[in-house]
Amino acid sequence: MWVFLNDRFVRKEEAVVSVFDHGFLYGDGVYETLRSYGSRIFMRDQHLARLRRSAEAIGLDIPIPESQWPELLHEAMYRNGIGNAQADAYLRITVSRGTGEIGLDPSLCPRATVVIMAKTLHPTPSALSRDGVALTVAKTRRNLPEALSPQIKSTNFLNNILAKRESIAAGTFDSLFLNWKDELTECTISNLFFICGGTLHTPALDCGILDGITRTIVMTLAQEEGLPVQEGHYHLADLQRAEECFLTNTSMEIMPVSRVDSLAIGDGRPGPLTRRLQTRFADSRTRFLEPAS
Ligand code: PLP
Repeated sequence: MWVFLNDRFVRKEEAVVSVFDHGFLYGDGVYETLRSYGSRIFMRDQHLARLRRSAEAIGLDIPIPESQWPELLHEAMYRNGIGNAQADAYLRITVSRGTGEIGLDPSLCPRATVVIMAKTLHPTPSALSRDGVALTVAKTRRNLPEALSPQIKSTNFLNNILAKRESIAAGTFDSLFLNWKDELTECTISNLFFICGGTLHTPALDCGILDGITRTIVMTLAQEEGLPVQEGHYHLADLQRAEECFLTNTSMEIMPVSRVDSLAIGDGRPGPLTRRLQTRFADSRTRFLEPAS
């Protein structure tokens, strides 16, 4: 496996970062995960724009010219023999504050550390997208946006990891976060949608969630399907009334939810509108891929 580290591709064994890296010491950094379908990266420019916004939000200079990213991402796939007809790719870009003396001051680190990893993206087990997944409502609350905005895709992921530990302990697929006002937000790596009375609902960005790229696409596709879409402030009681529920993210696309704690969603099986959106997503996907090279 080849990994891009700072200015060149190195073998996995040589892809080592200093113990003085502030990403390691303080979780001071940002990241993005992308995927390809074959050789074409899904919503590439939107992911790169979000990386830039996350970096700007923490005052981090990324020492790679914008124009170089597409080439680097493709080289990461090519060197690892993926991103082709045989294997879709999962790509992760990590940019940390870099190496510097111990201390919180970012100016201790003269240059950010940049890493690109690429591995085969294994499709979600079909049983999960067929039957839906179970969620646990986490006791851990989503970060208060004024404390650490969920809009920043930060390498400081402990909030999500604490919630993930809860779902692992409960034996469920993932945890659903509430915010400090008991409102529904998102899961540890995905956005939440539910359908009630024929309307597609999703928590508004100001509930304290990541502005998911798949979330935006699903809202667009739903509108194209003639399904009303509403962003709002919702509670667990709203999920109790929901007929259908699903999660979205870049690598798993649309994942139906069949149960939240002891509550069965609808009849406990993925519903017709979720299926319709899954099909629509699969049929429209090429619109959201970078041009074929
Ligand atoms: N919410 C969180 C906390 C995430 O980490 C992610 C993806 O990593 C998402 C939502 C979904 O975002 P996207 O659709 O851009 O992959």
